Amino acid sequence: MHRVSVVAVGVLTFMLILFSAQNIICPKVAESIVIDGFDYEDDAQAQAAWKPLEGASQVKLVDTGIVKKAIVLTCDFAQPVERRYWDREVKLDLSRCDSFRISINAQQPDAIRGFTVYFRSGNGWYAGWIRISKPGWQTVTLSKSSFSVEGDPTGWHSIDCIRLSVWRSEQQLNTFVIVDELIGIVHRIVVVRGDLTLKAGSREWQTVQRCVDLMMRLLGTFGIDAGVLNDTDVEVGALEGRSVAIFAYNPNMSEKEVERTVEFIKAGGKVIVFYSIPRSLAQAIGIEVVKYMPQERQGQFSFVRFDSKALYGLPDEIAQGSWNINVARPISVDARVIGEWYDAEGKPTNLPAIILSNSGAYMAHILLPQDEAKKARMLLALLGAFVPDVWVLAASNATKKIGVFAGFESYNECVGWLRENAKGRAVENDVAKLIEKAEALRAECYKAFEGKDYARSLSLSTDANETLLTAWYLTQPSRAGEFRALWCHSAFGIAGWTWEKAIEWLVQHGFNAIFPNMLWGGLAYYRSEVLPVAKEVDEVGDQIEACLKAAKKFGVQVHVWKVNWNLANAPKEFVERMRALKRTQKDVNGNDVDWLCPSHQDNFKLEFESMLEVARKYDVDGIHFDYIRYPNANCCYCKGCKERFERDKGITVKEFPKDVLVGKLADEYKRWRCEQITRLVASVSEAAKKLKPNIKVSAAVFRDYPRCRESV
Ligand SMILES: [Zn+2]
Repeated sequence: MHRVSVVAVGVLTFMLILFSAQNIICPKVAESIVIDGFDYEDDAQAQAAWKPLEGASQVKLVDTGIVKKAIVLTCDFAQPVERRYWDREVKLDLSRCDSFRISINAQQPDAIRGFTVYFRSGNGWYAGWIRISKPGWQTVTLSKSSFSVEGDPTGWHSIDCIRLSVWRSEQQLNTFVIVDELIGIVHRIVVVRGDLTLKAGSREWQTVQRCVDLMMRLLGTFGIDAGVLNDTDVEVGALEGRSVAIFAYNPNMSEKEVERTVEFIKAGGKVIVFYSIPRSLAQAIGIEVVKYMPQERQGQFSFVRFDSKALYGLPDEIAQGSWNINVARPISVDARVIGEWYDAEGKPTNLPAIILSNSGAYMAHILLPQDEAKKARMLLALLGAFVPDVWVLAASNATKKIGVFAGFESYNECVGWLRENAKGRAVENDVAKLIEKAEALRAECYKAFEGKDYARSLSLSTDANETLLTAWYLTQPSRAGEFRALWCHSAFGIAGWTWEKAIEWLVQHGFNAIFPNMLWGGLAYYRSEVLPVAKEVDEVGDQIEACLKAAKKFGVQVHVWKVNWNLANAPKEFVERMRALKRTQKDVNGNDVDWLCPSHQDNFKLEFESMLEVARKYDVDGIHFDYIRYPNANCCYCKGCKERFERDKGITVKEFPKDVLVGKLADEYKRWRCEQITRLVASVSEAAKKLKPNIKVSAAVFRDYPRCRESV
């Protein structure tokens, strides 16, 4: 041993560091509960547990490794069946689980429309839907909050049956699915979704959901695994045993929920609360909300700057343009202000933005979706104050992500590809220098990790990755004649810029086409003869005209974008008039939906004529459909739809909408619904091309075809 040379020791040390950084596991972030490992002794035992129903075959056991087993579900889908399913009777309390994980192997995903994991509780079910998109093993995690409820289940604490259901696709092929490891997950960190806001029928619901999505996205940046719970889960004690609960925006917390959350804090749990906070919860984390404060001038609340010494790993600041805040102050000895509001000019307002105590943190407004990289960092630092392990996990994950982009699975693969593709080209030298820089940053990053300076290690990982990305951009050759377009949601372009300045900027950055959103279901940003015209047009002029003029000057294509049917920004009196004329949609429960009903002939005409008007009156390169669908699966079930469906099919529907939701008319109604959309697209396309043979007709389409034919 003593003969090992110094050089060799150096290499060995480096390898050990690499090894430790890449193999760190963080066992405390989640607890797993095996619901069924499918490791049965033999077929007989597996078949005793899993019962086939309605003509399904018995399950079979298959070896997946030395001691690992899984079950095979035979899907004889050449038969005219809707699905095959198997039940296992159980007695389980799954109330603590916030997510479920299952491993599935489908040989022919095309033969399968989907896979459902059901949990039965008394007279109802919880159903988790999985779409199988690729062959081979995949592990799917389903958040409990994504499960739909069928019937009237007793509750997650009393699960009496598990059902695995495989749904047949239109392919009608015999196939099979292998299933392994059904696991319940109890995350230590949870985001609490304000479902009581949905239950209250409040308009704030969308904001509530967006805040949860943002929080999950920010946590995902660093691979921090977190669960999602609902307000109503917290009411029945779901926080028990967790470490941190994040309340992203919960304006309708119930007394029971607050009580349970305070109990959670007293038992050592921590909370991070944004904006809305009941008094007793505020007290429990040592703060008090003094007053609500709308901004007194534009830009008053533009940034939060942190006291960098206040907490390990905080960013210097975050951009956050809030229009109102809750002014809070620390009331317990351990609570302190760690971030303050600054205005757009960078002047302090002396108003606290974030307060931290030993039991929680509070931010004076909801977190807004801007400056997300720094906000992810802020969230990590706040979590790190309560669960220091998250730093190890985040830093370790970040080292693994260096060079993992654009399909590269490892750093070495990325660097190898860059060298190979830059070879002999003008960029070779620049790329080589960038790789050298990335190597150095990466080495430094591992050193920081070894020295347990995780925040620094994380920053260095990011720098190393961005350096490689720059090298990757340099190696991308331009394709001749490439269509490079940009959607512009504002009909006025960039605020504060003229169309000319915006288009010139696009050209300078390699774009050659723009899709400006110039019309909606009930509003036009040009001088329309068929749609209500936005009042701004009188002040600043016809926006299609303005955009076109600038685009022509720079040789940029213009494809005018319409948001079809949707009346979200239509003048109030227009929406009311449409509703009075029975031209707006009704959902399956008879609620008003502010979208034009596609089967109504006058709506068809309005959509058709507005798009044709654009093609006829302006020298545009294309017209573009968007929202060319229904809002969701629950629309449209208005009286007019009933009558027109009956007229088109020559039938009478006795009970509407019940008879078109289930039973033999269901498929026919779904098809008819699709036809309403298709006929508009086909008519506009045909007429536009008759008018201008070279015009391009395009559409922004929905994900998940063909399921979207039913889901929207
Ligand atoms: Zn309708």
